[in-house]
Amino acid sequence: MKAAIFKEVGQPLAVENVEDPTPEPGELVMKVGFCGICGTDLHATREGLTTACCGQILGHEYVGEIVEVGREADGNWQVGDRVCAMPFIACGNCLPCAAGRFFECESKKVSGVDDPGGFAEYVTTGSRETLLLPDNLELTTAALVEPLAVGIHAVRVANVKAGSRILIIGAGPIGLTTALWCNFFGAREVVVSELAETRAQLARQMGATAVIQPNIEKGAEDLLEQYIDIAGGPPDVIFECVGAPGLLQQCIEIAPYGSRIVPVGVCEQPDAIMPFFGLVKELNIQFAMAYTKDDFETCVAMLGEGRIDVSPMITDVVPLDELPEAFEALRTPSHQCKVLTSMP
Ligand SMILES: [Zn+2]
Ligand SMILES: [Zn+2]
Repeated sequence: MKAAIFKEVGQPLAVENVEDPTPEPGELVMKVGFCGICGTDLHATREGLTTACCGQILGHEYVGEIVEVGREADGNWQVGDRVCAMPFIACGNCLPCAAGRFFECESKKVSGVDDPGGFAEYVTTGSRETLLLPDNLELTTAALVEPLAVGIHAVRVANVKAGSRILIIGAGPIGLTTALWCNFFGAREVVVSELAETRAQLARQMGATAVIQPNIEKGAEDLLEQYIDIAGGPPDVIFECVGAPGLLQQCIEIAPYGSRIVPVGVCEQPDAIMPFFGLVKELNIQFAMAYTKDDFETCVAMLGEGRIDVSPMITDVVPLDELPEAFEALRTPSHQCKVLTSMP
């Protein structure tokens, strides 16, 4: 099969012919229809905590059709089923696995990390981690389930309530899906802070009730002033969806007494905070990572019923042969939000 391979840091991905995957017991093989490019994939090709191994196939936002059902597979999977899948294959026997919290499984294989990912014609998926798509759901739309699941998981652990006042820092794909779910679950104010005008526009389409242009020099104080002007009070929950040093401290300064900060952005550098400011306000800093099976199922169901719309986020679809170029282009910010790779 054809696949885009990560060679080494500083080199673009290379489309090459590699061996087709064969399923282990309990696994399925998916013919990939589309695979989204994620910030995590870009991180994996840079020097850092999450750098991929040379020769790895990246990509974890894949959807497609089952072409092979491995022996001992859970469920009634049939060749031809249209599916999406959580990008890991867990052991299925530990306590977290029993609760559908596969990401917590200590013996899981992760796509694009220690198992080949979806920038390829075929990928193996776990029979427990795979979800059937409703017939009416387009594959391109379903390719957004993974970033949607990151958003719903963050909103769930944040304990967003009907009537909550929300501030979201950053309108990248995760900031946008977080805004969508805050709106869906009845937040009163969903204010997104974003510098880039095209992203600000997208945030309005995806559920933000207002967008703030942060003033970099004036920092936290200005952001809070702008927020209160719009929302009439400070935020109950702040989602940090950028992952750049300095932002967590800014959130701590903005957050009112007893409120919650949810870091969702991936920051791989040391980042100084002044704990005292959090201490005196008894702040709750709740990190959010990945998703459970229920998060995935909810996203699939809500998309299938047409109760949420992610179409504004899909800005480009490129064939696998053009993936290396599109992938490099994403290193510089542009109008693009979610770029999907289509497989031959
Ligand atoms: Zn992703
Ligand atoms: Zn397990």
